[in-house]
Amino acid sequence: MRNTANTYRVIFLCSAILCMGKILAVSLSPENSTAKTDFLEIWVRKNDTMSSIFRRFNLPVQELQALTTPKVRASLKRLYPGQRVRIILDEARKVSKILIHHAHNRTTEIVRKASTALVKEVAPQEPKLLRKILFKVNKTFSADAKNNGVSPKELAQVIQVVQEQGGVKLGQIKPNTAVSLVFENTQSGHNTKLIAIDLKHAKTHWSATRFQYHNAQPAYYHDDGNVLGGGLLRFPLTKFRISSGFAPRRVHPILHIVRPHWGIDLAAPIGSPVYATAAGKVKYVGNKTGYGRTVVLQHAHNLTTIYAHLSKYAAGLKKGDIISKKQIIGAVGKSGLATAPHLHYEVRRGDKAINPLSPTLPTSSKLSGKGLEFFKRFRKMLNIGD
Ligand SMILES: [Zn+2]
Repeated sequence: MRNTANTYRVIFLCSAILCMGKILAVSLSPENSTAKTDFLEIWVRKNDTMSSIFRRFNLPVQELQALTTPKVRASLKRLYPGQRVRIILDEARKVSKILIHHAHNRTTEIVRKASTALVKEVAPQEPKLLRKILFKVNKTFSADAKNNGVSPKELAQVIQVVQEQGGVKLGQIKPNTAVSLVFENTQSGHNTKLIAIDLKHAKTHWSATRFQYHNAQPAYYHDDGNVLGGGLLRFPLTKFRISSGFAPRRVHPILHIVRPHWGIDLAAPIGSPVYATAAGKVKYVGNKTGYGRTVVLQHAHNLTTIYAHLSKYAAGLKKGDIISKKQIIGAVGKSGLATAPHLHYEVRRGDKAINPLSPTLPTSSKLSGKGLEFFKRFRKMLNIGD
């Protein structure tokens, strides 16, 4: 083996992932990145060398030569498929640090110092590996996922994301749908996280990818950068008149006592269809004192919506049902304490009521600018769905 920068040879270790014959994806994770530095997070592919990685990510290969002390060379040889490597770049896009995560909880840190580099072994976090699973729906999504190695814990995450956040019922995923799943697993197998799911059937395409930009909470986004569930529609009715606003100190029109009004009232004829303002899951269907016939929906990002004084519920609607955005859940009425037909509509984040008319209501949440750019690069590197 020659010890020049361009001929690092890769030692092939049969990692669990390689043995399973699954594909390893490469990813860039902009989280924690600042304007001045950038980093690439890479899952080593079969036959990868540090040089091939540098070429793939358009990094200057001469940067590698700058890092070549015998000790660094020795470290760089220890690449194997599935291994996680993080390359940190400074503002001039020069490599400032390379972190190589190994099996047995070790990390090699290569730090650039002027014209040379230092190598140190550091106590690491548990290495994370990406696992990609591809299959076609034959019978049902759940059965086929299990047959392709998706664990019950992983399936539960898929259900949470696809059904409860995305409003797509797993049972309605058609046979012949091409499914791509990417999970992030720790080496011990104790932790697993759904990173991406992609569903393709004929010309329809649906995807959700977990992404975190800067200090924002990680969330799942569609491939166009819209957050899953798409934020809230402003109103759950098409034709209405706002008869009462959000008022934390209001004298109740029937009870004549100060009683906060934690929602808005939308006057509309009895029977007008009421629809869900976002995809979610039915949390409650039934009679609530004062509220009359009430539906409560649970959405992503800890949001709930409440629809009260209904004259009826959508046929068969029950707790646990998965609801898509704009799906009809009932009809306007005057059940409970209501003087005239209207819909009482509330939005809550956790326990806190939010004014549904507030300009800051999360009516949409979409990645834009740098965030969208990083997101698209991330999806490209996951090599999913395109
Ligand atoms: Zn009301």
